[in-house]
Amino acid sequence: MGLASDGGLMVPYAVPDVRAKLPNWARLTYPELAFEVIRVFSDDINEDVLKRMTEESYSGFGHADVAPLRGVGSLHVLELFHGPTLAFKDFALQFLGELFSHILLERGQTLNILGATSGDTGSAAIHAMRGRPGIRVLIMFPDGRTSPLQELQMTTVLDDNIFNLAVDGSFDDCQQLLKSVFNDLQFKQAFSLGAVNSVNWARVLAQVVYYFWAWYQLRCPAVFDVTVPTGNFGNIFAGYLAKKMGLPLGRLNLATNDNDILARFFRSGVYERGPVHFSLSPAMDIQVASNFERYLYFQLGGDAEGVKTFMSGFQDSQTSTLEHLHGDFDWFQAGAVTDAETVATIEKVFDQFGYLADPHTAVGIAIAEQYQRVDVPMVAVATAHPAKFVEAVEQALPHTPNHHPTLQALAGKETRRYDLDASEASLKTFIEGACA
Ligand SMILES: *Cc1c(COP(=O)(O)O)cnc(C)c1O
Repeated sequence: MGLASDGGLMVPYAVPDVRAKLPNWARLTYPELAFEVIRVFSDDINEDVLKRMTEESYSGFGHADVAPLRGVGSLHVLELFHGPTLAFKDFALQFLGELFSHILLERGQTLNILGATSGDTGSAAIHAMRGRPGIRVLIMFPDGRTSPLQELQMTTVLDDNIFNLAVDGSFDDCQQLLKSVFNDLQFKQAFSLGAVNSVNWARVLAQVVYYFWAWYQLRCPAVFDVTVPTGNFGNIFAGYLAKKMGLPLGRLNLATNDNDILARFFRSGVYERGPVHFSLSPAMDIQVASNFERYLYFQLGGDAEGVKTFMSGFQDSQTSTLEHLHGDFDWFQAGAVTDAETVATIEKVFDQFGYLADPHTAVGIAIAEQYQRVDVPMVAVATAHPAKFVEAVEQALPHTPNHHPTLQALAGKETRRYDLDASEASLKTFIEGACA
């Protein structure tokens, strides 16, 4: 379930303290660790089943460590882009695919996932759900406005349960269509429509695992810091949760591009919407971070009414202020990085260390270098493979080869997509045909 029926988000009623278990988890493989971390939040899935699901989720990753940690100068780069679509969204969506299959089978139900994407989430969802019985995926994307590579990552998936809808309109049109169809509750129910958006709790949970993994890869230092390129606040919120569970994480450094609502918040306590900027790190071109409400809940000491007041104040006036800042406000530090700094960072990191970073990762590295503390290991989270963002990398390094075999293999493959005009009626007609 994404949104709760009252429009709020799901949070666990308690965050388990796992400090006593940490020594026992030291020699586990990534899937084994995922099983242990997820298990402490799960009370309704048979343990053998959960174990199989965590194994399956990461079996298609292209690196034996699943999430390798690489030394780059004085930083440790945690590479989260070895999944099937080469961005960190695979960590959550592959697991979500396993969960959906399990629950649908158990309940004898089917699910039709409807989504809108400007790039990464759509292809991660498609690759996670392809070929799964009882699940169909319909993903809308703005025709001609995703990168050709991103479109191919979706449209080359030919499984019967996958429907790529090229919408004659903008990404906002796609989102508007999604909203209007979901708001028709009768239609939504009749066609068992569901979402895989970034507020799904299971997605956050799967992302908690790699913060523990990074600590073990570092050989369990007394404390370590992380820097996370941030858009919807899902990834860094998972780090926050890991720290709350007892992982010895020091500072959570939040890196944004020019869309800096979160960076401003963590400096001032004021959450104020700004204009959307289109940047070289498009997965972070977000003004309102959907997972932020979850952090507010903890910051307000579990006061759900307080969260509601804060968020409705924000809805009404585009700004809201946190009056009393609790202790864990200090866990965060935040900085914003311009496109020019992003390009300069890609260039510098390659020249100095021979490491090719994608623009999102570069935003993180720029902030990680700024906030690095003496004698405290710093993990910079790498969220996408550079070959996914060829044009941006080319601005920094026009002559440096930037390829990935998975992406190269897409050229010339058979594709399938359905053209759709941007109207609710056309979308509903399509759903009626596809999901009958
Ligand atoms: C989604 C995404 C982000 C932002 O992550 P959030 O969890 O939304 O903060 C950063 N980089 C890449 C490449 C992404 O796909």
